[in-house]
Amino acid sequence: MSGIRPTGNLHLGNYFGALRNFVKLQREAECFFFIADYHSLTTHNDPSLLHGNVKNVLAEYLAAGIDPDAATIYVQSDVPQVAELSLLLGMHAYVGELERTASFKDKIRKNPSNVNAGLLTYPVLMAADILIHRATHVPVGKDQEQHLELTRVFARRFNNMYGVEFFPESQPYNFGAELVKIPGLDGTGKMGKSEGNGIYLIDSDDAIRKKVMRAVTDSGPTAPDSPVSEPVENIFTIMKAVSAPDTIQFFREKYASCEIRYGDLKKQLAEDIIKTVAPIRERIEDIRSDDAYLRKVTALGAEKARESAMKTVAAVREIMGIKPF
Ligand code: ATP
Ligand code: MG
Repeated sequence: MSGIRPTGNLHLGNYFGALRNFVKLQREAECFFFIADYHSLTTHNDPSLLHGNVKNVLAEYLAAGIDPDAATIYVQSDVPQVAELSLLLGMHAYVGELERTASFKDKIRKNPSNVNAGLLTYPVLMAADILIHRATHVPVGKDQEQHLELTRVFARRFNNMYGVEFFPESQPYNFGAELVKIPGLDGTGKMGKSEGNGIYLIDSDDAIRKKVMRAVTDSGPTAPDSPVSEPVENIFTIMKAVSAPDTIQFFREKYASCEIRYGDLKKQLAEDIIKTVAPIRERIEDIRSDDAYLRKVTALGAEKARESAMKTVAAVREIMGIKPF
């Protein structure tokens, strides 16, 4: 189970951190993939944009190859049981641990005029998203590691408090490999929808070339085997996701021998990104404009997700002592 916030179009970070793994997993396990519209309201609350943003992520999920017959695809707000589970889990989440969450501290630093309660309780809602299906594996990028840790804390605490073994210890998942962090090409930090530094799945070949050619570098190595600066290492990190190993080795060797030309490195990177992005982009528009299909996909997904969610909430109510007359 995993989800993405409808806060803009999906970029290479979302693709390599999450979406590509959704596609790989969908036939190996029972999968739930959702569009986190409640979560987007903590930072993006323009009613005139929300539906279009949900539609973008949905179309991009499908264009990347998620098959609605194999996996359950749904919109978070179509499954109100998530909100109930979040409320119940919130009774055992401590304000101190929520205030210490890195993403909360980061968000209030960046936007001190909107420190809303939803931002603080974001990890509780995220735990509810995961635990509502009692999910064991959560394919996410590196930035979500701390939130997953909190999900396990909440699950363990619930099990201990009520003397049950109900919730699993959900693990972040990347096929046994390290979790991925795709950097931006602006020097430091991760690529993010809210950072304005994305290479998007909808970008045209030319837009990709322009963005890559503008990537921050440095003045180049002056001595053999020099350490690689962060902006240049970021280029190599993205290359690792999109390029063939011998291509990377070629440029690493050029760097080590001080013969590298960043222009050539960027040109190669742009072409390799295009190879990943273009086939997805070509499908997005068709899918996005097929309202009947999107309605069918979300209705089917909502039904399957609600069925799973209702079972969990009924059991949690019983464990906590909420009983019908
Ligand atoms: P926002 O800036 O609005 O938070 P985002 O780009 O961080 O958007 P999310 O919706 O928060 O995207 O995350 C969706 C998924 O994509 C998560 O699994 C997250 O770990 C993954 N992800 C986001 N950015 C990256 C990145 N740069 N590298 C790898 N994975 C990423
Ligand atoms: Mg994010």
